[in-house]
Amino acid sequence: MLEIVPLGGLGEFGMNMLAFTWGDTTIVVDAGVMFPDPDLLGVDRIIPDMTYLQQKGGAAALILTHGHEDHIGGVPHVVPFVKGPIYATPLTLAMVEPKLREHGTADSVTLTPVRPRDRVAIGPFTIEFIRVTHSMPDCVALAIETPLGVIVHTGDFKIDQTPLDGEHFDVHRFAELGAQGVLALFADSTNIDRRGFTGSETEVVEAFEEIFTSASGRLIVAAFASSIYRMQILVDLAAQFDRKVAFVGRGMMQNSEIAQRLGYLHIPTGVQIRDSDVMNYPAQDVLCLATGSQGEPMSALSRIAINDHRFVKVGPDDTVVLSARAIPGNEKAIGRVINHIARRGADVITEDIKHVHVSGHGSAEELKLMLSLVRPRYFVPVHGEYRQLSRHARVASQVFRGRDPRPHILLAEDGDLIVFDDKGARLAGKAPVGRILIDATRTGEIADEVLRDRRHLAEDGLVVPVVAINRQTGALEGMPDIITRGFVMENSEELLADGARVLTEVFEQASFEERTDQGLIKERLRAELRRFFRKRSGRRPFVLPVIMEI
Ligand SMILES: [Zn+2]
Ligand SMILES: [Zn+2]
Repeated sequence: MLEIVPLGGLGEFGMNMLAFTWGDTTIVVDAGVMFPDPDLLGVDRIIPDMTYLQQKGGAAALILTHGHEDHIGGVPHVVPFVKGPIYATPLTLAMVEPKLREHGTADSVTLTPVRPRDRVAIGPFTIEFIRVTHSMPDCVALAIETPLGVIVHTGDFKIDQTPLDGEHFDVHRFAELGAQGVLALFADSTNIDRRGFTGSETEVVEAFEEIFTSASGRLIVAAFASSIYRMQILVDLAAQFDRKVAFVGRGMMQNSEIAQRLGYLHIPTGVQIRDSDVMNYPAQDVLCLATGSQGEPMSALSRIAINDHRFVKVGPDDTVVLSARAIPGNEKAIGRVINHIARRGADVITEDIKHVHVSGHGSAEELKLMLSLVRPRYFVPVHGEYRQLSRHARVASQVFRGRDPRPHILLAEDGDLIVFDDKGARLAGKAPVGRILIDATRTGEIADEVLRDRRHLAEDGLVVPVVAINRQTGALEGMPDIITRGFVMENSEELLADGARVLTEVFEQASFEERTDQGLIKERLRAELRRFFRKRSGRRPFVLPVIMEI
């Protein structure tokens, strides 16, 4: 009996993770994170609950399809439950490595690089890697041979017919597998609502050519740090238009370095400069590739927008391009950043104004093509909220209309036990699933389910700084107040008084824009106060700033 359990990614976007069990062997595909809504203050990331893996005695291997955070962001947290190697392509592994080092778990696991069409055997499973195209290089789908038949898992994909690196989507292999017979297909549903084809990564070149031609000042492009194709396109244009390129923000610097080292990003000699040198060049000679396309408060673009970046400034002649899709939930934060930049007089170009972004996920026609290539006996839509999954199911039944026998469609959600045996497949009950909220300053988890992290609160308490500010001037109104719960310390009065002073200092040092921007100032107060309590008390209370405008 084959048991497949989605531990994340079905019924939500993000934290993709799927477990396959045959007998006493369990393997796991992907270990992603999901980013929380901004109102989950103090929570940096969310990963799937590991109880199921624990019950199975751990996984014999972890297989990663590609290097996006929603597929690898949870790896350090999953590693303790993995007994065998991590298999992934070289770029994916290179992006996992720094995460493991950060968590101090790099030595506890073997990273095994694989190439498309490689096959690895893990107990009763044989896994073959198949090249797919997506918004970053070195992505694969999986064909997992089980004693009952082959399961194809697409990972994230679109069909980019003009891939920048010449690594084509392996249509042939999918067709071969389809011809030989596939037991089940698990396919990406992200863009099922979009008509037609998604389009190649190279489609953005035209819009950027126009931007490079007309931009008279500094050019700042914010994109996902994993958008290595986008980086390559922009580096090439910069070279062509005689601009130097600086990577700004930790993720950009780290990923561009990894991609260059492994040969996925080529920068002509003399083109790259350091972020600290940006202001030493005439504005019209510089391109900055920055993090912060989602309006993240501590990112490079957010700091630049409020004139608080150490090295990069933006002014009236400059152009800022947001070369990314707004992830639902981030619209407000992005809007805020755009307002700040606009106030500095710079031109802001988004996806709505010019074609500066292409999705990495296939649209309806590509998803249909995948279905008709693979022709599975069972189809399970994955990666998406319930509406995308059910839409994908509907589309699949259109694709196979009139075909005999028609594939069975299983609409599963996180925690559903999908069971295959000689009688077929069915949903047979529930496995324990849930969400773990991660606080980036800690290496471990906080607790499960929304802000009710009892363990964290019980251990370290809750601290609520209450700050009153003048709505007009953004100035502090009186001394900040600090309310605590479950936080008992010796000399706590003195500690709280010093804490209030820290808050006052943060406020006085902040710019007007920062003070009057609740998202930014809250994040700053939270970070500073947390640092203060850690240093002074050795504890890490949960800090939830409250700002009152008077
Ligand atoms: Zn992806
Ligand atoms: Zn994904």
